[in-house]
Amino acid sequence: MRVLIIEDEEALASAIARGLRREGMAVDVSLDGQGGLEKALVTAYDVVILDRNLPGLHGDDVCRRLAESGTEARILMLTAAGGLRDKVAGLNLGADDYLGKPFAFEELVARLRALSRRAGPPRPPVLRRSDVELDPASRRAWRQGRELELTNKEFGVLEALLSASGAVLSSEELLERVWDENADPFTNVVRVAVMTLRKKLGEPPLIETVAGAGYRL
Ligand code: CA
Repeated sequence: MRVLIIEDEEALASAIARGLRREGMAVDVSLDGQGGLEKALVTAYDVVILDRNLPGLHGDDVCRRLAESGTEARILMLTAAGGLRDKVAGLNLGADDYLGKPFAFEELVARLRALSRRAGPPRPPVLRRSDVELDPASRRAWRQGRELELTNKEFGVLEALLSASGAVLSSEELLERVWDENADPFTNVVRVAVMTLRKKLGEPPLIETVAGAGYRL
């Protein structure tokens, strides 16, 4: 799951980013509205966490422009003003959810997971295919009932492949979904993560390489 945080309070932005990375999410941060909007328009995020009070381009404008762009990303608006009027305003601008500051980190995580399930085609809380099961909320995965010990990236790759329901995902798509903007597009991190994931999944092989196209489960 890939998340963009647009928040001008640097300490808050990095605290959220750290916490979400610990949850296994790929997180990018933008400290201003204009930069955040540009990132959100070029990268396929699952959820954009958007502060409302931003210097320069206001959060409301970022929200409106994103909604108008037809992005598939879900927008979670954060604001210091926790009043009903702000909530209604945010939702009218095209936000999908709204969280007033201060908030409990656990609530933010729960809302992000709920929103990401609403992005794209509907997904069940626990993903299943063949004899593999994966629970994004508890960050656990099993094959034939045996729990898999996965790194965050291996877990992310497996989650993306399961969510694709048998469709092929290219290395670029996996890189975009599971890694953040610091990943070098020319590295072989995806190939390596798929290789170690295959080893951990064991026999019979589950992840198929589709020549010239990518991977599918
Ligand atoms: Ca702010």
